[in-house]
Amino acid sequence: MTDPLANSYYAATAHRWRPAYAMGEDLSFDVAVIGGGFTGLSAALACAERGFSVILLEREHVGFGASGRNGGQLIPGLRWSASELKAEFGRDRADALFDLCWRANPVKARIEKHGIDCDLKTGHLEAAWTPKDFDAMKREAEFLATRFAYQSDVVAKNDMGAHIASLLYHGGIHDPHGGHFHPLNYAIGLARAAQAAGVCIWEHQRVCRITDTPGGLGIMTDQANIAARYVIDATDSWIGDLEPDLGRYTVPIMNYNIATAPLANADALLPSDAAVADSRFVLNYFRLSADKRLIFGGGERYSQTPPRDIAAFVRPFMAEVFPQIADAPIDYGWGGAVAVTINRLPHIGRRGNVFYAHGFSGHGALVTTLAGELIGEAMAGTAERFDVLANLPSKPFPGGKWLRQPLATLGLLYYAVRDKLG
Ligand SMILES: Cc1cc2nc3c(=O)[nH]c(=O)nc-3n(C[C@H](O)[C@H](O)[C@H](O)COP(=O)(O)OP(=O)(O)OC[C@H]3O[C@@H](n4cnc5c(N)ncnc54)[C@H](O)[C@@H]3O)c2cc1C
Repeated sequence: MTDPLANSYYAATAHRWRPAYAMGEDLSFDVAVIGGGFTGLSAALACAERGFSVILLEREHVGFGASGRNGGQLIPGLRWSASELKAEFGRDRADALFDLCWRANPVKARIEKHGIDCDLKTGHLEAAWTPKDFDAMKREAEFLATRFAYQSDVVAKNDMGAHIASLLYHGGIHDPHGGHFHPLNYAIGLARAAQAAGVCIWEHQRVCRITDTPGGLGIMTDQANIAARYVIDATDSWIGDLEPDLGRYTVPIMNYNIATAPLANADALLPSDAAVADSRFVLNYFRLSADKRLIFGGGERYSQTPPRDIAAFVRPFMAEVFPQIADAPIDYGWGGAVAVTINRLPHIGRRGNVFYAHGFSGHGALVTTLAGELIGEAMAGTAERFDVLANLPSKPFPGGKWLRQPLATLGLLYYAVRDKLG
C-alpha cells in the first residue's frame, strides 16, 4: 500500500527485521491477534509467555499504524487526571487505575527484559499554556504527592529555562517517571521478543472477517483461513472495518509530525532532554531524537486528507514555540491516525472470546503495552487487573456510519477554537 504519510524519521532509522514465519499446514492456534502495533504485539507476547500458541496477523508490517509513527512520548497515566478519575469512579477504582497506569511502567520493563534498543530517555514535561492551566497542574501534582506519594517537580515560569528554551509557557510539571523513545524500534523489539517466545508473525495479511465456528473462531484473511479459540482485535483506528459495532466508539483524527535536520543547538532547546507536551487542546508535543533532531508534533486536521506539504503545515507551530529555529531545515514529515473515544478513555473489553483494546486517544505509548499484558493475564484466567482497565464507561459517537466523523469534527473544532481564544 502506498502511504503518503510514511516519510518518517522512524522508518528511516528503523532496525532491520523481517518475521521468520512461513505459512504452515496447520493454521489452528489458541490465539489469533489482529494488528501489529504496541497493543497486538504486547498481547501476543504476553499470551505466548503463558503457553498459548499465537499467530499475529498484520495488514501491512509491524509498527505500520500509530505505534510506528507517534511522538514517542511516554506519559504516565491516562488522558484523565488521577483526581478526575477519583471524582468519577470513587476511591477504590481510581486507586487501582493509578497503580496500573501511573506506577507500573510496562514499557521500561519490556525494554529491560528483552534488551530493546529504542533510545529510551527519562523525563516528561507538561508545559502550561495559560496561568490557569499551571494552577490546575500544581493542584494535581499536590494531589498525586499526598495521595500516592508520587513525586514530580513543579517548575515555576522563571525556572522553565532548565527544561525548555521557550518563553511561551507559564510553568510546568516535570515528571521523572515519564520519558521518550523511538516508537518503531520499540515495536520491532517487541516483535522480535514475541517471535522468540514462539509467536508466528504474519505480515501483509489483512483480516477481512471473524466468524463463529463450531470449534471456536474463524479468521479469514486475503490468503488464508485460520482457526483460533480466542481473537484479540488490536486494529485501533481500523477496528470499524472489521467490527462495525466497536468502530462506533472511536473516530480517527489525523495528526502530523516533523523531524528537523540534526541541530547544533539542540541541547540548548531542551536542556534536560525531557519530552514536552503542552496543555493546549490541540497540543504541541516535541522532544529530541538520539541524533539531536527536534521531533515536533502540532496541529490536528479534522479532514482525513493529509496536507500537501506536512513540513509547511507543522512548521508554524514549531516556530511559535521555538522562534530561534523557525527556518531550520526539516528532513521528514509524516502523519498518522489517532483513534479517539468520546471521553478520551480507552475502550477495552471482551465480547465472548474476542478481546479488544482501542481508542487510546493520543495517550497510548505506555498504556497499550499494559493493555496487551492485561489481556494475556485475563486469557490465562486472572482477570483482576484486566477488569480495572476494561469497561471504563464509553459511549458510541452519535451519527451512524456517515455522520459520525463530521459530528465529532464539529465538537473537536469547538474546543480548538475555544483554545485559540484563550
Ligand atoms: C501522529 C501520532 C502521534 C502520537 N503521539 C503519541 C505520543 O507521543 N504519546 C502517546 O502516548 N501516544 C501517542 N499517539 C497514540 C499512540 O501512538 C497510539 O495510541 C498507539 O500506538 C496505538 O497502538 P495500537 O497497537 O493500539 O494501534 P496501531 O499502532 O494503530 O496498530 C494497529 C495495527 O492494526 C493493523 N490492522 C488494521 N486493520 C487490520 C486488519 N483488518 N487486518 C490486519 N491488520 C490490521 C494496522 O496496520 C496497524 O499496524 C500518537 C498517535 C499518532 C498517530
